[in-house]
Amino acid sequence: MSQANLKKTFLNKSEIKAMDVEHKRKLSFNIGKYNEVVVKGKQQFSDLDNARKKAKNIKWKTMENLDQYLVEFEQNFIRNGGKVIWANDALEANEAVLEICKAHNAVQVVKSKSMVTEEIHLNDFLEQHQIESVETDLGEYIQQLDGEAPYHIVTPAMHKSKEDVARLFHQKLGVEPNLSPSELTLVARRNLRAKYTTAGIGVTGGNFLLADIGGVCVTENEGNGRLTTAFPKVHIAIVGIEKMIPSVDDLNLFWPLLATYGTGQNVTVYNTIFTGPRKKNEPDGPEEMYIILLDNGRTNLLKDPQIRESAYCIRCGSCLNACPVYKNIGGHTYGATYSGPIGSVITPHLKDFGEFKHLSYASTLCGNCTEVCPLKINIHSMLHYNRTLAVKKHETDFTENTAWRMWKLAMTNRKLMDIAGAGIKTKVVNKIFKDSWGKRRDDLSFHRSFKQLWKEYKNVD
Ligand code: SF4
Repeated sequence: MSQANLKKTFLNKSEIKAMDVEHKRKLSFNIGKYNEVVVKGKQQFSDLDNARKKAKNIKWKTMENLDQYLVEFEQNFIRNGGKVIWANDALEANEAVLEICKAHNAVQVVKSKSMVTEEIHLNDFLEQHQIESVETDLGEYIQQLDGEAPYHIVTPAMHKSKEDVARLFHQKLGVEPNLSPSELTLVARRNLRAKYTTAGIGVTGGNFLLADIGGVCVTENEGNGRLTTAFPKVHIAIVGIEKMIPSVDDLNLFWPLLATYGTGQNVTVYNTIFTGPRKKNEPDGPEEMYIILLDNGRTNLLKDPQIRESAYCIRCGSCLNACPVYKNIGGHTYGATYSGPIGSVITPHLKDFGEFKHLSYASTLCGNCTEVCPLKINIHSMLHYNRTLAVKKHETDFTENTAWRMWKLAMTNRKLMDIAGAGIKTKVVNKIFKDSWGKRRDDLSFHRSFKQLWKEYKNVD
């Protein structure tokens, strides 16, 4: 799709969602619950501000020396018996997975929740090669049944009510309509249990990479990540290179921060560190473990000092929940894997800047995203930076350029401003902004200028 079409689609979808009262009700309900619990989660920190600063500092140090940490990680992971694959882009990562599947005659893969595998569209790729890929996280399972991408980076089915899920299960799985949430969970559990034992390969993402021990951390609440990696003979973890932290000791800070800002928990229920395949004398675990270290545009984030901070993101989803735009237009509208404020920052750099720069305008720049980010990532400034970059790269369109030129001309020339009377100004401005500002608002009125008001105020001629 061309840039103009992507932007048009985004605007059209935004308009529809923003007017969808039922959609707003569901999102408000779920985000409201999040807001309640996150306050409690934060109470576990004796000095939250300091914890956030410390975490940001660790990520700063790691990203500034990522080349060294990646090599350290690779050496340690190989020493543990694991195999490392470097993937420059989505295709390289997908082909690596396919090759491993073929080598093990695997026709079925079980997957735990992973945004990176969404980013590279692994499920579609495997399906094209006649390999079934089954989502085992409940939210992802629901989305897969519905043929939809995740709606939110932490809660994939956030936009669905329990009634929507019951209806979906009835349609797709033929179970009774109107099942309760616990009954629906049991249905999913029953269907998935069988898959763990028949799948040849288990695929996970990774919340953190640990350089000092060559470990991959997977954080989840359902235990499906552990089942995904315990039964199949091969485990493939696909992880973005920016997930690196220096040491296993840093987890005592990052695990609670992620849990609190992600779901309001003190610590997520299941936290697993994988350090390679099953060792001699170990009773379970995969016989082989691969890690695919994915770039796919991340080095674009790292090479620009103005945007590098976006690579500190631990994908907690907090900025999405706080964003007035996300709360109105929802996740799918963005047309990208990563939605909300951080998605709008990174997507133009991960993909094509020209095609996705319009996302950086999907913000009021209120700064709430920056305020709620556990890493204090300066998100709203980077959204502003992307807009500046669009101008510098001459990526703005004719209408915008002309509008700003006219505005500048008028604002820097008092006489010019005074030429047109109040009536003409009112007419011209309302005509220009008829389709944007004027669609849902009263006409703007310039019956008295600031100059006139000032004179009246000062009581001078
Ligand atoms: S930018 Fe910050 S708030 Fe947003 S998902 Fe990443 S870590 Fe969470």
